[in-house]
Amino acid sequence: MNFEYDPIRLSEYTKFCNCNSSNCRCGEDNVHEWTWDKEHTTYTTVLSEQDLEVKFHNGFSYGTAVIRGNKALEKGRLHYWEVKMLTPIYGTDIMVGLGTSKVDLNSTKHTFCSFLGLDKESFGFSYQGYIQYCGKKRTYGPCFGQGSLVGIYLDTWRGTLEFFVNRKPLGIAFTGLRNMVLYPMVSSTAAQSKMRLTCSCSVPVSLQIECLSALKSSQRAYLSTMFPGLRYLTESIFADILKTPLDEDDDNERDEFDFLRDCMIFDDFDFALVGVGKKKKKKCTNDN
Ligand SMILES: [Zn+2]
Repeated sequence: MNFEYDPIRLSEYTKFCNCNSSNCRCGEDNVHEWTWDKEHTTYTTVLSEQDLEVKFHNGFSYGTAVIRGNKALEKGRLHYWEVKMLTPIYGTDIMVGLGTSKVDLNSTKHTFCSFLGLDKESFGFSYQGYIQYCGKKRTYGPCFGQGSLVGIYLDTWRGTLEFFVNRKPLGIAFTGLRNMVLYPMVSSTAAQSKMRLTCSCSVPVSLQIECLSALKSSQRAYLSTMFPGLRYLTESIFADILKTPLDEDDDNERDEFDFLRDCMIFDDFDFALVGVGKKKKKKCTNDN
């Protein structure tokens, strides 16, 4: 497939908020399990703000610069991190994604390229809206630009990778990552481009988190009111990103305790919710 540079499409990206100030901290979480790694980067990058902010090509740009996170993404966990684009995004490519320790971060310092996903060692999502793996590009999501918040969600249990733009899920981009040791990565060819890691967090894979992802917002609100012990889960960023697709439509029409009609609560002490679904009332067709 041909991916031509399309200035009109690129100008239609969305921002996370409407702030025009460079001090904008909207949507930032301040939870950081890892930061960018000054030991594992192309020499032209500059780090600041406790290694959360990275500036690529401090001057002119002569190629592609890359940086990776300072920790491998541990297995048995769900990982989510977000990167805010602080400067205008343009040029050959700016990408977010991940890769293995075999990725040579200095291999393209004199060439302009779409770095992440060039081979089988990394996976990338470009600001132009496509994803790349093994050098193959595929149409995927919207473009992103200055002020956009790009999220990356890795499920090490299922081996899936999904991207978000401004907290909007874009669908599974890649599968089959289950047995790989991966590091978060970003790459840029644009001079003086800057991005900030606004959160990096993880939770262990558990039945509890699986259940959370199946619940609607109204059900979560009920749980966090009734069971303060579950508040840490219902208020975490994972509650925000792991939503059922029908969640938003549903919430407009249903009040917060409506779901009790669809579910049974067995016991308040040993709490369990069992969805029995909405049973459609059968119409009686052969009544005489
Ligand atoms: Zn803002």
